[in-house]
Amino acid sequence: MNSRAEERKGDDIPPAPPSRRRSDAADSVRVLKPRRAAPADAVRPTRAEVNLAALRHNLRVVERNAGGARVWPVLKADGYGHGAPAVARTLERAGAEGFCVALLEEAVELRDAGIRAPVLVMGGYYGGAFEEVVQRRIVPVIYDASHVEGLVRAARALGRPVEAHLKVDTGMARLGVRMGELERFGELLSSAPEVRVTGLMTHLASADAADERSTTDQVARFEEATGRLAALGIRPAVRHAANSAALLRGHARYDIVRPGIAIFGVSPRAQGGDACAFTHELRSVMRVRSEVVDVRTIEAGETVGYGGLFRPSRRRAIATIPVGYADGLSRQLSNRGHVLVRGMRAPIVGAISMDMSMIDVTDIPGVSLGEEIVVLGAQEGALGRDAIGADEVAAHAGTIPWEIMTSISRRVPRFYREP
Ligand SMILES: *Cc1c(COP(=O)(O)O)cnc(C)c1O
Repeated sequence: MNSRAEERKGDDIPPAPPSRRRSDAADSVRVLKPRRAAPADAVRPTRAEVNLAALRHNLRVVERNAGGARVWPVLKADGYGHGAPAVARTLERAGAEGFCVALLEEAVELRDAGIRAPVLVMGGYYGGAFEEVVQRRIVPVIYDASHVEGLVRAARALGRPVEAHLKVDTGMARLGVRMGELERFGELLSSAPEVRVTGLMTHLASADAADERSTTDQVARFEEATGRLAALGIRPAVRHAANSAALLRGHARYDIVRPGIAIFGVSPRAQGGDACAFTHELRSVMRVRSEVVDVRTIEAGETVGYGGLFRPSRRRAIATIPVGYADGLSRQLSNRGHVLVRGMRAPIVGAISMDMSMIDVTDIPGVSLGEEIVVLGAQEGALGRDAIGADEVAAHAGTIPWEIMTSISRRVPRFYREP
């Protein structure tokens, strides 16, 4: 790259914000959002189609199985890669009463998108911006003395009490007040009447496991924590613990449930647990499709792609698709996964490269330039009908469907469909 190109690249980097003290941050939190290819600018045929009707359908399925609890869908990581603002607007109109995200930035994005329902920030990092949290009616999760101090300062500055949900660590060992620290934290809260603990929550480590003992143990500890906090005068109006797997199996539904993956129509199964009831009713929301951009015939002994990982012993028809690992098609699928063409499965052959992959279409007659291919989701084609689920892709890639969904990168434009 020549030096002029380097300079031009440098110009694109936004100037660093002036440094400021943490306490000033509340006035001016500025969140730089990652730019993603907009549908209107899309030239490439690779796109993720997001089916909004399926999203609403899944919300209904979850509501029916929530045991009377309110449903606060989890829209962290850009709504599991589906585009959080569009997903939140659709679900809010369909009756979702609140939302959960991991980051303050994600909550701000939902507010900027016009979402009015409560937004719970589960990650617990607020960068000192507690006034912004309160002013934008974002509900923070707290579990540390610094959270209480920050909220007390914000409450005094704003002249009104502030609301928070308290998180207890019942066995996940990730975030939350440890069981042994409950009384100490409760006393701290008693000395901070400005902070109103309106919710009590925990997170389950193995809600999808075949063996349910770990979940019942966590629920027992959560009940114990509820009682010990009540003895200190802390009696939150709502409690919540259930992710998708827990709620679909009827565990820990309490007053609110926090489904993520189920809302996007994917079965919450990571640890080889049995299929959760009702997951067959869920409909997958995202479909990733592209088109064949080149087709060729290779002879026996020729190789395909980087490293020549595929070397057939017979003549083969090879099609190239413009989907690579930089789009979220895991390189682990090299020589392993499948895509759909004309409604049939074609094996991925050779190494997946950054921008492209090759598929073997020898057994699928009639594949030509511009033919639609599907990497994730269903296809109805001239030769049949089939579907590739996130769980299938995850199994091939040695990971879980959550990672598959959140890996679809920003250069894949999202198209929202209202069928
Ligand atoms: C991600 C997350 C959820 C949702 O989990 P799913 O398995 O996708 O339903 C719920 N609660 C917390 C704290 C989370 O981090």
